[in-house]
Amino acid sequence: MNLQVTKPTDNLMQHWPLLCHRIIDHAALIHGRQEVVTQSVEGPIHRTTYAAIRDRALRVAQKLDLDGIAVGDRVATLAWNTWRHLECWYGIMGTGAICHTVNPRLFPEQIAWIINDAADRIVMTDITFVPLLEKLADKMPGVERYIVLTDNAHMPQTSLKNAVAYEDWIADVDGSYRWHVGDENAASAMCYTSGTTGNPKGVVYTHRTNVLHAMMGNTGDAMALTATGTILPVVPMFHANSWGLAFAAPFVGAKMVMPGPKLDGASVYNLLQAEKVTVTAGVPTVWQMLLGYIEANKLALPHLKLVVCGGSAMPRAMIEAFLQLGVTPRQAWGMTETSPMGTMSVLKPPVTDLPDNEKIDFLTAQGYPPFGVELKITDDAGASLPRDGRTYGRLKIRGLAVVRRYYGSDAEILDEDGYFDTGDVATIDPHGYMRITDRAKDVIKSGGEWISSIELENLAVSHPAVMEAAVIGLPHPKWNERPLLVIQLKSGMTVTAEQVLDFMEGKIAKWWMPSSVVFVDAMPHTATGKIMKTTLRDQFKNFRFPV
Ligand code: AMP
Repeated sequence: MNLQVTKPTDNLMQHWPLLCHRIIDHAALIHGRQEVVTQSVEGPIHRTTYAAIRDRALRVAQKLDLDGIAVGDRVATLAWNTWRHLECWYGIMGTGAICHTVNPRLFPEQIAWIINDAADRIVMTDITFVPLLEKLADKMPGVERYIVLTDNAHMPQTSLKNAVAYEDWIADVDGSYRWHVGDENAASAMCYTSGTTGNPKGVVYTHRTNVLHAMMGNTGDAMALTATGTILPVVPMFHANSWGLAFAAPFVGAKMVMPGPKLDGASVYNLLQAEKVTVTAGVPTVWQMLLGYIEANKLALPHLKLVVCGGSAMPRAMIEAFLQLGVTPRQAWGMTETSPMGTMSVLKPPVTDLPDNEKIDFLTAQGYPPFGVELKITDDAGASLPRDGRTYGRLKIRGLAVVRRYYGSDAEILDEDGYFDTGDVATIDPHGYMRITDRAKDVIKSGGEWISSIELENLAVSHPAVMEAAVIGLPHPKWNERPLLVIQLKSGMTVTAEQVLDFMEGKIAKWWMPSSVVFVDAMPHTATGKIMKTTLRDQFKNFRFPV
């Protein structure tokens, strides 16, 4: 290693590049018998170990090498959370190629668009997505081969180019491969933002940012994984690196429970119970389904200690429901662009001394950043705003695993101090707790004053009949814009608009009260489980508030 020594005290420690394969090497050596359990796509529960996963990841790397995949080439995965996906993940990164996790919930045209944009040479996919890819294959001429993550017995008949069953593909090599040792700043993985307007943008992570992000995630006040714990990442590996969990779990040797394609309340509950899961992570819609199932069947969660919830705001009612079940709720805020950890809502002094009700107020905030993340809020001109917990501003972030530039773009996206504009609007309080009030593009301005749609939504979903709530701003002749509350009720529940408004009355400022309430049968969602406000705005564009 050629490290320059300019002073007699410089660079006297080892240089140990932070490469992703080192995580699975460590897991195999120290926690080799630790289990990875999967609800397989084919049906049965599958059990393997970190040692076996490393062995087979080496075979993946060896095969990619033989297939001519070179350092820096992109290999896509369009797949559920399974042990095979984990093997591909480490195998791809271990050859020096870039693991491009593709979100199957994107519109088909967007899937083809991002696979072409990334110039993926190989696509690894589950049997679930073979029909989808067959329809898109003509639009993706650059893909040289499709590897279907299954065995010979379950391999479907397919027209996909050079398709092969994964188990057959890795069967003819022995894994005698040495991981590619490159620069820790080289690309390891990529993920596209689920842009609701315009084309998605590619974020390219490096080995160094992935390893450091895993370290950050494994701190006690973050995901808090340990070798004695069991993690169920409901969050998919294609949603911002499964929030780092596919790195963080083998890093500490935590048992992993992979849910495969089944994310409904009953399936998640059964896995939590059967595998004695201690930590789990996912978006609010998943927890809504789980809590609904638990409530309907009068169940308990005796093993679960921590539920991490991110991607959209965690409503107070959900926080209280988990607390009642004896589970610590921990809200996380982040973005594809931030690897994704930005903040975690965890109590720290002096808020730990507050009465319970006020502590919950802090749990409804998005939380404070761990070491490695720095936040600020600014006005539209970029001037910093006070951290008083009241002043709203554009939320900006810099840190050890935050994007510098989008893939294939020369556009400068950082300010002069290196901060990235998140597009969120937030407050930061004197203790460091950040609270998102809105996406900048969803902000409602009524009579020149801001109304926080998130706060109204959180309040509306605490009504026992409400499943999901979204607030959008619509034109108003007097106030310029007023909030419309859109509600999807829980199945079998009925409630009137007046009853919802009565419930909200007195809990928020009078002028924040929604001007109207409408009900929908199904709330539209984005590919990462967020409520699609663009669709709602379109749906209600002809709506007029009663005067
Ligand atoms: P994505 O890149 O798909 O993960 O989306 C990132 C965006 O999701 C953020 O900029 C926020 O607008 C939103 N988001 C993520 N976590 C939260 C949270 N805990 N509360 C509110 N919004 C969130």
